Amino acid sequence: MGKLDFIDKNIATLKEDGVYRELPVISSPCSNVIMLDGKEVINLSSNNYLGLANHPRVVKAAHDALDAYGAGSGSVRTIVGNQDLLEELETVLAEFKEEEAVMCFQSGLNCNIGTIQAIVEKGDLIISDALNHASIIDGVRLSKADKAVYRHNDMEHLESILREKRADYRNVLIITDGVFSMDGDLAPLPKIVDLAKKYSCLTYVDDAHGSGVLGRSGRGTIDHFGLHGEVDFIIGTLSKAIGVIGGYVATKNNVKTWLLHRARPLLFSTALPPAATKATIESVRMLMESEQYTEALWENARYFKSALKKLGFDIGKSETPITPVMIGNEAKTMAFSKALLENGVFVSGIVFPTVPKGTGRVRVMISASHTKENLDKAIAVFEKVGKELSVL
Ligand SMILES: *Cc1c(COP(=O)(O)O)cnc(C)c1O
Repeated sequence: MGKLDFIDKNIATLKEDGVYRELPVISSPCSNVIMLDGKEVINLSSNNYLGLANHPRVVKAAHDALDAYGAGSGSVRTIVGNQDLLEELETVLAEFKEEEAVMCFQSGLNCNIGTIQAIVEKGDLIISDALNHASIIDGVRLSKADKAVYRHNDMEHLESILREKRADYRNVLIITDGVFSMDGDLAPLPKIVDLAKKYSCLTYVDDAHGSGVLGRSGRGTIDHFGLHGEVDFIIGTLSKAIGVIGGYVATKNNVKTWLLHRARPLLFSTALPPAATKATIESVRMLMESEQYTEALWENARYFKSALKKLGFDIGKSETPITPVMIGNEAKTMAFSKALLENGVFVSGIVFPTVPKGTGRVRVMISASHTKENLDKAIAVFEKVGKELSVL
């Protein structure tokens, strides 16, 4: 018996459950079409909603920063990593989000882990939606505050927790995703903001899949609902629609100052590289200049979703370009994804533990970069595979 035999056992269980997978290897830029394991396929699985990850203006900005600043930032921000590009990015993002201040992190995950832990402590309560993203769950776990979970988007459940527990705590922080990444549905933010006012709570919205997608020019779910100034902590990622890497919280100046002293990823992990920072600035400027990117995304999303619905697929309750195609059984979900790939279309299968058991789906991520030809080919392949595997 080797010391690590228990790992082999765990892996064998993955195989039995039909959820074992190997990483595909991509040898091209992230675009509408990619080279996956040496084969050209239509890419329906990236978070590159606006096609900015490989946009010439964004790539040029990265090149310019490489030439001017080199490859790495060399330190955490609190020592010598705070390059002026980062300050510029935060100013541009605050303007874009129409909020007082922005603090950037190395990723959305880092932002959640750093921010939640810094703002609540023992004697406080966090109330979190049951379907919140894993990085929120990790941030909540790291905090010393007490925790409660409300059923997904169930405002009566949230209020019953508030009624029962509010008086026992100093601060209460309500946390939700703006857009839920596995189903593409939205949080009922106007109601959450009302409850937060009624019960004097803080509000925290992780808008990773809403920023760059919803609201004017992709200003996000808060903009979509007209709630500027009503949410205390608005998290965004620079890794999805913005096309590069990084995360941020849009908030008040005093919170920014506090995070600089307490958010552990800022204190203990190296700052973003300059090429990434400059590329991000360019992406955000492009969104502020024009709605063309978000309009192209929504046009593609509407086209694809209505075609799949017409074919008879169950595409869940998405209100965004995220298009889950519900399959159910875990092994069948992975088989469906594999059959799509054999026909030149890459859509990843999503199964337990990422989503509840029995709710496996292939999740189509529409992008502004898809051509109508890409979408038509994908629709035809979905129809073929759907019939072959008796999903239709
Ligand atoms: C993707 C995602 C993150 C993580 O963002 P990264 O920048 O990729 O680390 C955080 N929260 C939510 C809701 C996400 O969907």
